[in-house]
Amino acid sequence: MSIIQTVQALNIWLDNHERSRKSLGFVPTMGYLHEGHLSLIREAKANNDLVIVSIFVNPTQFAPGEDFDKYPRNLERDYELSRAAGADVVFHPEVDEVYPDGAATQVEVTGALTQTLCGLSRPTHFKGVTTVVNILLNMVRPNQVYFGQKDAQQALIIKKMIRDLYMQVKLNICPIVREADGLAMSSRNVYLNPEERRQALILYRSIQKGEELVHQGVTDVREVIQAVQEEITKAPLAVIDYIEILEAKTLESIDTINDEVLLAVAVKFGKTRLIDNKLIKPQEGQLCF
Ligand code: AMP
Repeated sequence: MSIIQTVQALNIWLDNHERSRKSLGFVPTMGYLHEGHLSLIREAKANNDLVIVSIFVNPTQFAPGEDFDKYPRNLERDYELSRAAGADVVFHPEVDEVYPDGAATQVEVTGALTQTLCGLSRPTHFKGVTTVVNILLNMVRPNQVYFGQKDAQQALIIKKMIRDLYMQVKLNICPIVREADGLAMSSRNVYLNPEERRQALILYRSIQKGEELVHQGVTDVREVIQAVQEEITKAPLAVIDYIEILEAKTLESIDTINDEVLLAVAVKFGKTRLIDNKLIKPQEGQLCF
């Protein structure tokens, strides 16, 4: 596996590896890899000749006061995990390589997709994400790119950007990987102290509770949200940012569940903000039109 820091070196590597005759999969990450990231790398490897993983903690998607400076980093371990999962290249550019002097272009998806959920709590976040994903896709020029359902809103926004800009890349959205006890894997889980870690299980439990209600035939969004909220408040350290049930593809608000929905939650434990979500379909026979 090669470790590459510049676009020039990346292009040489790609030429040397007969890029024009091979399929290329790309997995963008911010590093501090866990099984969630590795599942994307393995999926990319299973479906492409070559796989590039990027590790870049993107400053433009963090607002002042967020955790950019203390975002966890462990490059040596990331290299080893990437190699073992099948990556051919870890692309680890410096900030100046991604945003050279005078970089003045931003890419923003507008509308409902970015104006809900994390878009409300982190108003500049998704513009930073779509800008950097655009730049990275232009640098790497993969055939396929892999994102996780863990960041469901991000995946939908990137899907929209790829479609709107006719970008020549196939998007793959891979399932959420969880710890054995149900907590969605996240690089930020290391911030949690043992008590917060214990209570953080309430995210998944509350989502399961919501799903259970929908499967029992509850279609009133407010009723399900209320039940999820009651579950989360059982954890005394939990501070709810949002609990939402939205139309699964457009993220538009709904009152009644009669098609697939996204149940998404964001909850803070101390300084750590965790997100989780699930796509939920009303069960056969209970669709009401
Ligand atoms: P990040 O390093 O947090 O920017 O994440 C890089 C990619 O890994 C994104 O597409 C995430 O959605 C995905 N990812 C993060 N956590 C998980 C997880 N638990 N399961 C699946 N994919 C994940």
